[in-house]
Amino acid sequence: MSRVYNFSAGPAVLPEEVLREAAEEMLDYKGCGMSVMEMSHRSKVFQEIIDEAEADLRDLLQIPDNYKVLFLQGGASQQFAMIPMNLMKNGVADYIVTGQWAKKAWQEAQKYGTANKVASSEDKTFSYIPDCSDLPISPDADYVYICENNTIYGTKYKTLPNTKGKILVSDVSSCFLSEPMDVEKYGMIYGGVQKNIGPAGLVIAIIREDLITEDVLAGTPTMLTYKTHADAGSLYNTPNCYGIYICGKVFKWLKKMGGLSVMKERNEKKAKVLYDYLDSSSLFKGTVEPNSRSLMNVPFVTGDKELDAKFVKEAEAAGFVNLKGHRSVGGMRASIYNAMPIEGVEALVDFMKKFEKENA
Ligand SMILES: *Cc1c(COP(=O)(O)O)cnc(C)c1O
Repeated sequence: MSRVYNFSAGPAVLPEEVLREAAEEMLDYKGCGMSVMEMSHRSKVFQEIIDEAEADLRDLLQIPDNYKVLFLQGGASQQFAMIPMNLMKNGVADYIVTGQWAKKAWQEAQKYGTANKVASSEDKTFSYIPDCSDLPISPDADYVYICENNTIYGTKYKTLPNTKGKILVSDVSSCFLSEPMDVEKYGMIYGGVQKNIGPAGLVIAIIREDLITEDVLAGTPTMLTYKTHADAGSLYNTPNCYGIYICGKVFKWLKKMGGLSVMKERNEKKAKVLYDYLDSSSLFKGTVEPNSRSLMNVPFVTGDKELDAKFVKEAEAAGFVNLKGHRSVGGMRASIYNAMPIEGVEALVDFMKKFEKENA
């Protein structure tokens, strides 16, 4: 068996320790004679798995008691509709468009009410986070929406927008648990777990209790109403049991690593290795304005499409896989999530240096 260095944006690298543990428990989970994939979601054993996962997540993020944690399906993309259906009480919301995922969320919200674009960075191919200190927030906006880490473009908010008292809703799919968060600053935080936490098919939503009501858009399906899932402890119907189980293991791994402050330090150190090299290289260039750089997704180019393609190909042959940039931006992108060890980034930079020399 040999493992590669996997720089995929998602589904993405998971901690090897977690995968080994899951493999050991595959046929017989803790003496119950079956896999977690085979057991009832109504069983006592599974109830313990989901309860423990929630408790560990609450511990990691210091989630206050007046916030619910929901384990949902439908991907992050389903939230683009669920959010306006559930939270647009006045039928108005403000969106900050910093990339394709924020843009999709904004476009979807237009189906359900007035969704204003109050800021955008599309003028420079989403290569920066706009100044959000004094935006034209709508007086009757039900919430202000952001995508906190832009997976495709590699930008991240360093300060949250001034929402002028409105509720902040944030898509944190690609920076979930990469650093501590002040949950109280948000009305809702959500993310697909397949970027920085676990396997695909599960979304975690953290929502302030008072926002979870029966007062939703007329015609909202039962399954798309937060209250349905909140009232049922995320067991209204069969959830993604195996996904919840793996996420639970990742939460335990994060706690063992020292928690989110330690992860933040690790992630800063890791990203610095790559950014420092990009800043000094005469072949490779980062594409993001330095003060908007993500710690998780690092896009870069050579400026020559053929050379980019040659690099991706040679990197893959050397065991550095999934470095091709998103189809909408080209070039390269290294996603260096929590589970990517610093050795992987150092080895990548060594390989880039060698490539630079050979192609000077
Ligand atoms: C990947 C991604 C999405 C879409 O996730 P799906 O689970 O595939 O719907 C949304 N937002 C961000 C920030 C992402 O990185």
